[in-house]
Amino acid sequence: MKQLTARPLAKAAAFVAAGALAVFGLAGCSNSEPASDSSTEGGSTEGKTYEIVADNAFAPFEFLQEGSDGTYVGVDMDILAAIAEDQGFEYTVDNCGWDAAIGNLNTGQADGMIAGMSITEERQENYDFSDPYYEGGQIMIVKGDSSIASYEDLAGQTVAVKTGTQSASFANSIADEYGFTVVTYDDSPAVYAAVTGGIDAAGFEDYAVISYQIENQDLDLKMVGDQQQITPYGFAVLKGQNPELIEMFNAGLANLQESGKLAEIFATYGIEI
Ligand code: GLN
Repeated sequence: MKQLTARPLAKAAAFVAAGALAVFGLAGCSNSEPASDSSTEGGSTEGKTYEIVADNAFAPFEFLQEGSDGTYVGVDMDILAAIAEDQGFEYTVDNCGWDAAIGNLNTGQADGMIAGMSITEERQENYDFSDPYYEGGQIMIVKGDSSIASYEDLAGQTVAVKTGTQSASFANSIADEYGFTVVTYDDSPAVYAAVTGGIDAAGFEDYAVISYQIENQDLDLKMVGDQQQITPYGFAVLKGQNPELIEMFNAGLANLQESGKLAEIFATYGIEI
């Protein structure tokens, strides 16, 4: 297998527009006490405030509202709010970014995670997922004027992905076959910057996310080929932890589906489900 390298963020950041740069500065989860405290030991969730972690630059699922002072919006944020209201539970959400969010979930510093997270078989060994609320795959992206038109054209090139994502595992799974090297970045804007800046010849990203970016952010990127690994998205807890949270999420999600509220939330961000 080709060597997997991680590019220093600074190198890619140099190519990022000022607006996207602001996102980097906001990353980082608070490292508080483990979220699951003794108050839930008796099975009671009364009075508990669930700590949820999320991605920070993954529009339209979660992203910093333009012109706001640290308010995150998006499909995931709206679904979470609507389900909590429907089911009557309290929560806080920390948009600390994909990698940090997984870290905090793994160490029990967070109770749950929502981040356009694909329900993969591998992840199901470590996490319990809710019922799916969306389904999507990944797609290759190249710079607007790139002549790369297929995976075959990637021979000898580098390909940008976000650490620990399905895009990363897909790129790694075909790297040998097509003779390219996978380069990992900490967040999605860094992946886009690496491709628009000509650092890497191509990248992979979730289809819904890159479609939204291209449409709304005027990025100099185009998609090539078909979606890969179409997989459902779900809300996650650490395996065996906070089972009541998954139950409430599922019950609330079913209500949102039935009332049409779920479709309404997606429609707000231009997605038809
Ligand atoms: N859906 C992808 C995954 O779960 C990417 C998620 C993300 O980058 N927030 O791997």
